[in-house]
Amino acid sequence: MRIIFLGLAGAGKGTQAKVAAEHMGVAFVSSGDLFRFHQAEGTPLGLLAKGYMERGELVPDDVTIKMILERIGQEDAKKGFVLDGFPRTLRQAGALDRALKEGGIDAALYVKVREEELVRRLSDRVSCRRCGTPYQKELLDAQGVRKCPSCGGELYQRPDDQPEVVRRRLQVQRPEIASLVGYYASQGKLTEIEGEQGVEGVAREVSRALSKYASPAKTKRAIS
Ligand code: AMP
Repeated sequence: MRIIFLGLAGAGKGTQAKVAAEHMGVAFVSSGDLFRFHQAEGTPLGLLAKGYMERGELVPDDVTIKMILERIGQEDAKKGFVLDGFPRTLRQAGALDRALKEGGIDAALYVKVREEELVRRLSDRVSCRRCGTPYQKELLDAQGVRKCPSCGGELYQRPDDQPEVVRRRLQVQRPEIASLVGYYASQGKLTEIEGEQGVEGVAREVSRALSKYASPAKTKRAIS
């Protein structure tokens, strides 16, 4: 089972992709998380990616494709995976199809959210330095929460979630998402998900879309 999530920054696709991978018992692979991991470790790949990420631009295809294909070749991804943030270009999508053979991915879920809502969400977003989970700052402030509720890690605003960079990221991502949506729609693999109905509502819609790939027990749990 090989699923990808498409959507602009802040659409909530990372959160949904993680939940879907857990429910389906397959690997969760996020290109952004992998780049942030390499940066934190100070690897050559991390150093290379840093400048692009800080400017809200895409890291070059060659290194990104290599990183993801290596990751999905690992043991835990053999029975399947959910990809978050990859592919982001048609070249990446083509490379993924060629690497997977046997008809490529099974499904592409496009989480749709209006851009004004995305800017609002991202400018209020903080993320955990340790586990990467994103939160709305306003909600945490209202509850007096200062540390990551799931792991206790430090919360910070990602440098690329600052308003100027957010605008640049959306500008870069807009045409690319449109071409990927067209690419997977033409293969009959695309499902659009209404992304403005709250996390639970989106998760239910995702679960329905993926139900044909999961065992009945898992699907039921994913919906409840
Ligand atoms: P994300 O966490 O998905 O918002 O990604 C953060 C940043 O990582 C992006 O703004 C890009 O600079 C880089 N990045 C993540 N995924 C890709 C990708 N598939 N292709 C190129 N750059 C990427």
